[in-house]
Amino acid sequence: MRFYPSVRTRRSKGGEFSIRKFEPPYWAFHLGSATSAGESSVPQRLRSKIVIIGGGQAGGRLAQRLAADPDRFEVTLVCREPHPPYERPPLSKGVLLQTASLGTCLLWPESDPAWTRVERHTGVSAETIEREARTVRLSNGERLRYDFLALATGSSARRLTSPGSELDEIYHLRNIDDAVAIANRFVAGKRLIVVGGGFIGLEIAACARQRKLEVTVVEASDRLLARVVPPEIAGLLAKRHAAEGIALKMGSMVQRFIGNSRGAVKAVELSSGQILPCDLAVVGIGAKPETDLARAAGLDVAVGIRVDASLRSSDPAIFACGDVATFWHPLFEQPIRFEAWQNAEDHARVAASVLRGEPAACDFVPWFWSDQYDLSLQIAGLPYLGSSVVTRRLSSDAVILFHLGPTGRIFGATGLGKVESIGRDVRGAQALIAARIHPNPAALRDPHQRLRAMLKEPAPAGPDSFFP
Ligand SMILES: Cc1cc2nc3c(=O)[nH]c(=O)nc-3n(C[C@H](O)[C@H](O)[C@H](O)COP(=O)(O)OP(=O)(O)OC[C@H]3O[C@@H](n4cnc5c(N)ncnc54)[C@H](O)[C@@H]3O)c2cc1C
Repeated sequence: MRFYPSVRTRRSKGGEFSIRKFEPPYWAFHLGSATSAGESSVPQRLRSKIVIIGGGQAGGRLAQRLAADPDRFEVTLVCREPHPPYERPPLSKGVLLQTASLGTCLLWPESDPAWTRVERHTGVSAETIEREARTVRLSNGERLRYDFLALATGSSARRLTSPGSELDEIYHLRNIDDAVAIANRFVAGKRLIVVGGGFIGLEIAACARQRKLEVTVVEASDRLLARVVPPEIAGLLAKRHAAEGIALKMGSMVQRFIGNSRGAVKAVELSSGQILPCDLAVVGIGAKPETDLARAAGLDVAVGIRVDASLRSSDPAIFACGDVATFWHPLFEQPIRFEAWQNAEDHARVAASVLRGEPAACDFVPWFWSDQYDLSLQIAGLPYLGSSVVTRRLSSDAVILFHLGPTGRIFGATGLGKVESIGRDVRGAQALIAARIHPNPAALRDPHQRLRAMLKEPAPAGPDSFFP
């Protein structure tokens, strides 16, 4: 997961990113109203044709939600991958451990009759959006007409450009086919190098170790998860990975990959000159949003596709949701982009409501988790907005850090421990963040104090800004 404060505005400056919370969308009047009568009794012209590009977490869930309302929507789903929509979090967990498969990761079962109400184009890419004509051209030459278009194109794995990057046995992990290929290469005793000490790299390393590979993690920064978790949490995680037998090479860059006579990687040379022999390597150095289609269509793109709190882009007939959307967040008063499962789910819910003409805005508190061994790492809110940290020690192996702004308002929480140890407090922190609470630090520190009891804490007088 990465949090992107793509533009650090001081306050809402109005304009296209002003919060149009609960304003009925202008097209609501053209949709007609849903009736309880059967599909056939609804005049065709009252149904909106919705084309969704990207059949991942956000696009697949949006299709499912809209397909539940056949009186209102004709749904078309276009996806580059040949598979039905599936969830990605198990790819770096259960699929690598070979306890999960495509079948167990599906977003909604193939047997669901609602699927018959979705026109599916799988294994096909959307290549051009023709906004004037309201059509999308596909890689197979077909053209799809839309009333409303939802872009849910997600992210793609970043690639290294170091010499030798094209050798065999060097993998990336973004989709189910990548995960199955990597899982099949996890043979006990093989030497694996994981490039990148971020969430995905560490989950891959933990799974490989559980499958008895010899694992080295190479990380450019001087600590794990440098961009997203505080040093204390990173340190605890590093200690656990080392205790599991993983070698951590911090502050190390890949200089080049060295191949054998069959064109497969046999070693990695670091910038220090050290050579690490290996049988395979997995590169996990982050992801980038898939914005090419939107950019070529002339939509406003920041890091992701810029949308308002209702997920409408600079073209009101086009929405963006999931990883690819940089959306206005009313609670934090700034545009934000997340790469997280919950965010994709929330966006699908908001986009479906807005298309139905119901009031909805992306004002939820972000939440992300990562599983490594029996540890759960959970992040709520936007920790990077905090200027001070209060630590609550829940037990010898569970801790939660609260991130407070300059006025004492809580903006985030980062927890590490067994899921049953930290789950309740992370959920409590989410409630405090949503309510813009300024909790008493002494009470936050005390594990016996219930966080929800702090929901009544009075806010201090003065401006409630998180900017120093
Ligand atoms: C290995 C892995 C593990 C993860 N683990 C966690 C976790 O533990 N916790 C967590 O909170 N989050 C996790 N995430 C993040 C989470 O899965 C993503 O944030 C979520 O999948 C985003 O959903 P999305 O629909 O925006 O994009 P995606 O799920 O990536 O779906 C986008 C789809 O659009 C398709 N597409 C792109 N361009 C086109 C085009 N032009 N035409 C047609 N189709 C196109 C892509 O092929 C893809 O199928 C993980 C992600 C990965 C990759």
